[in-house]
Amino acid sequence: MAREFQLPEVSEGVTDAEVSEIMVAEGDVIEPGQTVMEVETEKAAAPVECPFGGTITKIHVAEGDTVPIGGVLLTIEDGGAPPAKDGGGSAEKPAAAAKSAEAPAAAVPSPAPAADAGSGDYEYDLVVLGGGPGGYPAAFEAADHGLKVALVDDNPQQGGVCLRVGCIPSKTLLHVAKLLHEAEEAKNWGVTFEKPTIDLAKLRDFKGGVVNRLTGGIGQLGKARGVDIVQGRGTFVDSHTLTVDTHAGETKSLTFKQAIIAVGSSPAMPGVFDIGDDRVMDSTGALELQDVPGKLLVVGGGYIGLEMGSVYAALGSEVTVVEATPHLVPAADRDLIKPLQKKLEKEFDRILTETLVKSLAASKDGIVATLEGDKVGGETKETFDRVLIAIGRKPNGHGIGLENTHAVVDDRGWVGHDECMRTADPALLVIGDVAGEPMLAHKATREAKVAVETVLGHDTPFDNVAIPAVVFTDPELAWVGLTEQEAAEQGRDVTVVRFPWAASGRAVTVDRPEGLTKLVCDPETRRVLGVGICGVNAGEMIAEGTLAVEMGAVAEDLAETIHAHPTLSETTMEAGEMTFGQATHYVSRR
Ligand code: NAD
Repeated sequence: MAREFQLPEVSEGVTDAEVSEIMVAEGDVIEPGQTVMEVETEKAAAPVECPFGGTITKIHVAEGDTVPIGGVLLTIEDGGAPPAKDGGGSAEKPAAAAKSAEAPAAAVPSPAPAADAGSGDYEYDLVVLGGGPGGYPAAFEAADHGLKVALVDDNPQQGGVCLRVGCIPSKTLLHVAKLLHEAEEAKNWGVTFEKPTIDLAKLRDFKGGVVNRLTGGIGQLGKARGVDIVQGRGTFVDSHTLTVDTHAGETKSLTFKQAIIAVGSSPAMPGVFDIGDDRVMDSTGALELQDVPGKLLVVGGGYIGLEMGSVYAALGSEVTVVEATPHLVPAADRDLIKPLQKKLEKEFDRILTETLVKSLAASKDGIVATLEGDKVGGETKETFDRVLIAIGRKPNGHGIGLENTHAVVDDRGWVGHDECMRTADPALLVIGDVAGEPMLAHKATREAKVAVETVLGHDTPFDNVAIPAVVFTDPELAWVGLTEQEAAEQGRDVTVVRFPWAASGRAVTVDRPEGLTKLVCDPETRRVLGVGICGVNAGEMIAEGTLAVEMGAVAEDLAETIHAHPTLSETTMEAGEMTFGQATHYVSRR
């Protein structure tokens, strides 16, 4: 099998390097980790080690060439040593070794050998199990560093739950829901549209087209990097072997130096709700959009319940949301929820907090739900056309053969790891939903980068302090860092400022003045500890808050940075102003 070796990262911030010396020739057989070239950057000279061995069939560069990081240096064929050539690489090796001793130590990464890597005679440097927003970035990053990588997923569409049956299709439908609401609201601005007709088949096709385009793109990106995409269900048989049962009924065996477990999570479906009737849906079922039910019961007032409830309400369902706790989205601050809840109360039939769904039963007329709580007068039965269960997700750590390795999986399915994403098994790392909360795609992607650094032998812990959370309802709800309620639970003294969007010119121009931007700051230093936003585009705006928290910005940084006018982002600037006086467009009564 031919593989390409690309120029790995030489040192931080360097985008290309000049090839100063080539120590090998076409036809040479090289060992894994052998120095094949020396490159120079404006910062330093560095040896380039190829992490895998084989026969060099092509050298793509010449001495003196400038090559971008990731540019192809060599094509290497596995095995089959051709007759030795005169001159070339091997004669040069001692000189190269002498030179490399002068070069900065970890300038060119090579994979760290796993503690029990044995003979090292493995088919792959790295196998990634699970191709979601954790797994595929890990596979790509490792391949970009020259490792031989296989990405194993049992679904023919790449991208995991996020792309296939999660973030991407739900956001596609939420975009349509927002359009339907705006078309309705436009009558307040003197523009009246006819009542929309909904072609459900076409809407499903649009959603399917978006998913196909993005999942297809991931497959192409993987292939372009030389990642072997293996379709089938993977099971660890030991710390260096994964068997893959393909849909064609074959079993393949992949051996690897190291593997990254990125198998994600599945919707929680307790037995009491699992009644074997497809009118009871999980998020995947809800995204299929089989019909627009007259009455939809949504169990759980979190991310999925509110997002998918919004979609079905916009399409015409009467939606009842039942939430066990006193508040929707329990992790978010109450003042941020208020504008969202007020709008959802108009769109949904009912929002029943502090209410439980005790059981479900199938009947000819629908699904009969037994609800319990003061808001339904104690206990009552009610029939719905469909029910969406959205009460959280469970990690997929069981059923993948980890009992045949040294990795530790707890009863719930979480796989234990250290801050560099290493499990208790030296050959295995873990990332994404199966590695712990929060179960968010962007957390998984960051963990993927950390895990690959670990595979490459660098100790780079996951030390991000800020992971943004976004609920893509309308208005959107987004927060990052310390919330006001967390500060109260910790007994931590904080300064909290709230800038209401009624004072934002831009919010008024789009007739969405209900929003709120708040900052949670250290009272002494005014360091920004948390940012919360409820309003249109909050999901985009939270990036500034995330950067502020991550880099340890103080409120003045937000207040004194020029924000374009008129934009919603000015609300963050004005919230910053409020921490040391009044904001230009709002007089606080504090
Ligand atoms: P969630 O944790 O967001 O919300 C579940 C809600 O159900 C909670 O409010 C909980 O109190 C409630 N609940 C639990 N048991 C209940 C019961 N028996 N009756 C009534 N209410 C009950 O979970 P989710 O909405 O299923 O989403 C799962 C995960 O998927 C989320 O935690 C999130 O990490 C991820 N996700 C993220 C996004 C996004 O980033 N926009 C979107 C969808 C899902």
